[in-house]
Amino acid sequence: MKEEKTVKTPGLPTRVAVGLAVCLGACDSGFPFDPAVDLVVYGARVWDGTGARVTQPAVVQIGGGRILAVSALPEDTDLAALAIEAGVAALEAEDWYLVPGLINTHGHVGGTWNPGLGVEYGEYAFNELERYARFGVTTVASLGGDRELSFALRDASWGDAGEAAGDAADARPPPRARLLVAGPVVTGFTPEVAVAKVDAAAAMGPDWIKIRVDDNLGATRKMSPETYAAVIARAGEHGLPVASHLFYHEDAKGLLRAGTGMVAHSIRDEAVDDETIGLFRETGVCYVPTLTREVSTYAYGDRPDFFDDPFLMSDVDSAQVVTVSDPERQARVRASGAAEAYGRALEVAQANLARLSEAGVPIAFGTDSGPLGRFQGYFEHMEMELMAEAGLTAEQILRSATGVAADCLGRDDIGTVEPGRRADFVIVRGNPLEDVANLREIVGVWVGGVRVEGVGGS
Ligand SMILES: [Zn+2]
Repeated sequence: MKEEKTVKTPGLPTRVAVGLAVCLGACDSGFPFDPAVDLVVYGARVWDGTGARVTQPAVVQIGGGRILAVSALPEDTDLAALAIEAGVAALEAEDWYLVPGLINTHGHVGGTWNPGLGVEYGEYAFNELERYARFGVTTVASLGGDRELSFALRDASWGDAGEAAGDAADARPPPRARLLVAGPVVTGFTPEVAVAKVDAAAAMGPDWIKIRVDDNLGATRKMSPETYAAVIARAGEHGLPVASHLFYHEDAKGLLRAGTGMVAHSIRDEAVDDETIGLFRETGVCYVPTLTREVSTYAYGDRPDFFDDPFLMSDVDSAQVVTVSDPERQARVRASGAAEAYGRALEVAQANLARLSEAGVPIAFGTDSGPLGRFQGYFEHMEMELMAEAGLTAEQILRSATGVAADCLGRDDIGTVEPGRRADFVIVRGNPLEDVANLREIVGVWVGGVRVEGVGGS
């Protein structure tokens, strides 16, 4: 039994009958709108994030913040007229491509905030989430350094905008990237100390526990295998997976054996071997390349070429550009041996990415953007281009940044454009399956079915 529903559609009479009302005038030649629909996007070629090919132009129905239906665009049907008749907002997207919103499984939100900036932490973090969204990144897992307020921002980001505000369209929060958080990074050099920090972090209600197993090229002490094993076991008791920062191949093996839930950076010291590939296969753990992290360690010894890229410069935290452009800072970067070492590390990382991808290891898109000079939104596009340079196909990269990323984060409500999923998607002008750089030509971004402001003239 179909119920007649009323919806509020911006720009149309406040209460419009849809559903049965459609059939009164156009049942035979009409289009089967879902009774809950409040936006129809038609004519775009949809790549849905599952690996299915882009085929003919489609109709995507959205309602209540979710994807309701995806179907082929019927020939000889005036969708616009039928939508008007049905009181449904419609967007014609002919010649364009619709893909799921990008998911960054390793970013940082709010980490560059300080009280001297003259803006509240919450507003600062909101601005960052809005910028991610304007670049097409609709979910970010912030892996460490998250303050208590970020947990509330996280919770708010998973409410459907339409639900949260009821009829008061003006009261809806502006759409921004959804957030997952890890809380403070768990540190400590003995199991006792580190386990106590796991308990403290777990009490905040994070999505992940984040640890660092790294000596920063020999400069600092590294968490021992005994300690990280205790951390991973304790996190498991709290039902929490552990995302591991690492650099060295040997540590990756140890962490995989100890039960880490995610390898949150590339292995950057040497080529991965069959044993490591076997460990990834046995555990099903996802591998997060964060190639742009390396770029950020050496690029600012001079003025980087990408400072001439209008795609970055039209939407950037200019204070950060000023900071990394300081000649004295540039000289320090040039003088640092670390910069050169991380430059080599990028080449190793790209080769390992190619090898692991080839071996079928799930590659979860992630950039480590957020810290100074790792420009949120823009670095995600640079990351995809570096993945392509490493030899991954555009489809592999897109899968990594959508459906695979969602799986790696344990979420079945994002990452694909399928009925029931959250309506987080991006419309671009060119075919991203031919070249991921086509994702730069953004027409619009939607989070929970609501269009993000400040993109493509919206
Ligand atoms: Zn990080």
